[in-house]
Amino acid sequence: MPSVTNLILTAAGKESTCDSQLPAEPWEVDQNHSYGPGASQADRFPQIAPRQGAVPSRYTEASPAELDAMIEQARKELGDRVKILGHFYQRDEIVKFADFVGDSFNLAQAAKKHPEAEAFVFCGVHFMAETADILSGDNQAVILPNLAAGCSMADMASIGQVEACWEELTRVLPTRGDGAKAPLVPVTYMNSSAAIKAFCGRNGGIVCTSSNARTVLEWVFERGERVVFLPDQHLGRNTARAMGIPDEQIIMWNPHQPLGGNTPEQVEQSTVILWNGFCSVHKRFTVAQIERARAEYPGVRVIVHPECPAPVVDAADVSGSTEVIRREVEASKPGDVLAIGTEINMVNRLAQQYPDRTIFCLDPVVCPCSTMYRIHPAYLAWVLESLVEGEITNRIVVPDDVAADARVALERMLAAKP
Ligand code: SF4
Repeated sequence: MPSVTNLILTAAGKESTCDSQLPAEPWEVDQNHSYGPGASQADRFPQIAPRQGAVPSRYTEASPAELDAMIEQARKELGDRVKILGHFYQRDEIVKFADFVGDSFNLAQAAKKHPEAEAFVFCGVHFMAETADILSGDNQAVILPNLAAGCSMADMASIGQVEACWEELTRVLPTRGDGAKAPLVPVTYMNSSAAIKAFCGRNGGIVCTSSNARTVLEWVFERGERVVFLPDQHLGRNTARAMGIPDEQIIMWNPHQPLGGNTPEQVEQSTVILWNGFCSVHKRFTVAQIERARAEYPGVRVIVHPECPAPVVDAADVSGSTEVIRREVEASKPGDVLAIGTEINMVNRLAQQYPDRTIFCLDPVVCPCSTMYRIHPAYLAWVLESLVEGEITNRIVVPDDVAADARVALERMLAAKP
């Protein structure tokens, strides 16, 4: 099966891709005020989101074979001093060079497990590189090859909006002085800025991943009456519903409306307050796609990520993190048919790894994560050759005070397990 990049190049101009600009090289769109072509192309791009400056033409004009040779040579010269971390959603042209491939938290932990490395080149998005910087040693550099690789979901909650939300909620909710449970506990999904993780650390809150969201909510309800869940409404709702929390006790917070668009009574009667963020990759999956897959392949196993909307999760056979999806495919048998609702690069790679199964993405349109796709081999070659020259380019640094508070929230998550 061809890589997603090749699928895009051969499908250019046809309706099988979500944007005719997808074949554009990232440096052609880096200067635009947008997330670029792909699933997040229509999302509001914050003014403060980092942008990538110009990259030397030596890299942007090189052929794919020349870039591969530059990356190989630089890796050889750098040896164990530098590790390349590749997210499951990265292009194959990047993943083939990764020392470790995994989800955001596994990769951040890989950084922690390698004290001998001087630098980690994080081929993922901005919040992931921040987490790796928080968990790695002070003398270790974390590098994001393209600074424009943010995450539209993480950008849907700014620290200013979260602080304003907290202030409004704590004004409405009664505080107890009797040692009873806290009226409100903040939880943030890993896909959020370091500043928001730090906010949770400072305010008795915790971080979660898509693998441990339920464990984390159980931890919360041992300590509090209510949770404000940031920034992904779908992961929050799917987890709360799986725990049996009724829909009437789940409300949404719109940061652009007073009290999030709720009445004081609705807030008081709520158990879960969901920030209205979402992932534009996983929002593309629909119940109609599942019905089509079942009609076409009776017996198909449908596996979706919990960032998908609740009706999609309800219609699927299994919902779970990228790690759960990977394990489900691993446990399948030759001849099985699996329809998967997550980012296309990961699905395509699983289909390549298991050619004796029929594995396909539920979404028939090729539409990668806009920002993951901004990590191109030209940027990887550039940051690696800079390291060979003794120069650290595109270093992601979380200020010490923010990192200390964020670490508190991350450590609570690790202690809560699994
Ligand atoms: S797949 Fe969704 S949540 Fe993940 S980086 Fe892309 S936009 Fe963000």
